[in-house]
Amino acid sequence: MLILISDAFDDKLPKTLGKYGEVTDDHARQAEAEVILIRSKTKVTKEYIDASPKLKLVIRGGVGLDNVDQVYAREKGIAVHNTADASSVAVAELAFALMIALPNHIVRADATMREKTWAKKELKRTELLGKTLLVLGMGRIGSALAARAKAFGMKVLGYDPYVYFTDAAEMRSDVDAALGEADYISMHMPLLPATKEFINKDRIAKMKDGVFIVNTGRGKCINEADMAEALKSGKIAGFGNDVWYSDPPEWDTPLLSAPNCLFAPHIGASTKENMGRIGVIAEQIIATYKAAK
Ligand code: NAD
Repeated sequence: MLILISDAFDDKLPKTLGKYGEVTDDHARQAEAEVILIRSKTKVTKEYIDASPKLKLVIRGGVGLDNVDQVYAREKGIAVHNTADASSVAVAELAFALMIALPNHIVRADATMREKTWAKKELKRTELLGKTLLVLGMGRIGSALAARAKAFGMKVLGYDPYVYFTDAAEMRSDVDAALGEADYISMHMPLLPATKEFINKDRIAKMKDGVFIVNTGRGKCINEADMAEALKSGKIAGFGNDVWYSDPPEWDTPLLSAPNCLFAPHIGASTKENMGRIGVIAEQIIATYKAAK
């Protein structure tokens, strides 16, 4: 059995998986691979599947499966698994880091000091305590973020068409009304037809003036041009973003020239600890697959 590790995983994983078969990271051997491990870089499209005649199992290290043609994989009898439980803490901590860095001007404070500029009067901070956070998508990551926000004394609202009640947040069924209650909005829904450009100029118009938004979900869940406009006008006070229309983004995206933003290169899941957890789950999936053969 050939196991192709197609994207970046824990350095120790090839050795660990060696007991289940031959392990390679040589993409030229894709056609021989029975098991392929991917993260977000490899796109398992119809063409990719057609070029992988021996493929039986795809393991997506991480959560989002929007880079896998799951319908075609199923038609071809290929099992697709993610490692959904591994990444929640890693992504929630990055979302929270962005949420606390924006109103505290952490990056601008550091940059002005390095420029030998004393910006004490310009850098007016605000606190999270007592503010309202709206979590869009109350799944694993949204719930982990909600717990962190509550620890900081925030009021937490949630919107999720499939979650009616949770201890983690006060659920709201009318998202447009909930947008008007929030001082902070954090996005944790998957990319689906219903969530594509979920944040657009119509929904931004329903938000409070001076709202902060963080997106560690999927880039295409916002309309970048509408977001950039709202940042320029000051309607949105700050935007923390880890996810893009593509990895890397088109470098002329209007977001990169918009004010009051903090950006990251899709590193939500990239903690050392998470890479270890992903490896453990991937091994379990391969062990179960091999035992059932
Ligand atoms: P999850 O499946 O546990 O939670 C997603 C939630 O979104 C679910 O509760 C679902 O009901 C909800 N949802 C579905 N449609 C919705 C809609 N129209 N409006 C609001 N909510 C909706 O997944 P998770 O582990 O919490 O991950 C959430 C997302 O985070 C993933 O789909 C992925 O896109 C993203 N993610 C990003 C990174 C990163 O590196 N930045 C890493 C992992 C995951």
